[in-house]
Amino acid sequence: MKGICPNCEKETELELIHRAEDIKVRGETIKVEMKYYKCKNCGEEFEDPKSDDDPLDKAYREYRRRHGMMQPEEVRDFRKRFGLTQNEMSRLLGWGGATLSRYENGALQDETHEKALRLAMDPRNLLKLIEVTTDVLPTEKRDRLVNELMAAEQETCSLERVYEERFGKYEANELSGYRKLDLAKLFNAILYFSKGGVLKTKLNKLLFYADFKHFKDYAVSITGARYAHIPFGPAPDKYALYFATLIENGEIRVEENIIGDFIGEEFISLKEPDFSLFSDSELKILATVKEYFKEFNAKRITDFSHDEEAYKKTKHGDIISYEHASDLKL
Ligand SMILES: [Zn+2]
Repeated sequence: MKGICPNCEKETELELIHRAEDIKVRGETIKVEMKYYKCKNCGEEFEDPKSDDDPLDKAYREYRRRHGMMQPEEVRDFRKRFGLTQNEMSRLLGWGGATLSRYENGALQDETHEKALRLAMDPRNLLKLIEVTTDVLPTEKRDRLVNELMAAEQETCSLERVYEERFGKYEANELSGYRKLDLAKLFNAILYFSKGGVLKTKLNKLLFYADFKHFKDYAVSITGARYAHIPFGPAPDKYALYFATLIENGEIRVEENIIGDFIGEEFISLKEPDFSLFSDSELKILATVKEYFKEFNAKRITDFSHDEEAYKKTKHGDIISYEHASDLKL
């Protein structure tokens, strides 16, 4: 490819080089893939000045993933879900001013803070924290949150039970992209992709690409869904049940359409997705995937997915590990 070499100070032929570099994080060696350009004219190697890849950020994400720690977006999303400011959340936790802000911006949390955060991010525990900390929140906000958290607790308890019976319970591991199955996100991602109509085969692939691409870039999936290797490419392992639930709830409808010489099921959403469930990075990836495959029909996206290492290295009926996401073509 052509580009400007900072050494020659003119346009020359550049070669893109991928190289794994070792970064030490708390005594652990983590390999991070770096991209360089090499000038074919003078041999100078340099980083892409436009790239926002931060090697240390990548290494921290990998370290957190290995140790089951929370990623910055998860912390920020949880806090925002309950309308708490960084300052309020810090004071509820009894922390100094800048600590939480640093973690939400990518600093690596120490173990004690990780434990406290994880505990506080369970709505039941947050409720307790708010109940015992009387001097942090204004009375009105405090009352509102206590009500909200009590309602959320009751709702999740009963809904979780119903859904657990129906869908089973997944652990956060390499098969779920290190996230527990989040049905609300999965269902809203389906609503997002089926706006205006999408064929089932294509929808399954869009979900796969969204979760795997987010894992590739941020070391955690969006929905926590597991994907199975089936003849038409990767698909959520219980997709028939997920879709049936949405149809039953009146949130999507199905049309049988004849396309060329085969009959396809088209899903059409009847409801706007709830975007507030998703973090900025998740929204970005959902939009990227939808845009990238905009012109792809079901056949073309199926062929595209058959060429993925994630598909080629697994057999019919296998659950596909998110470890394959690093080779994703997207
Ligand atoms: Zn040069």
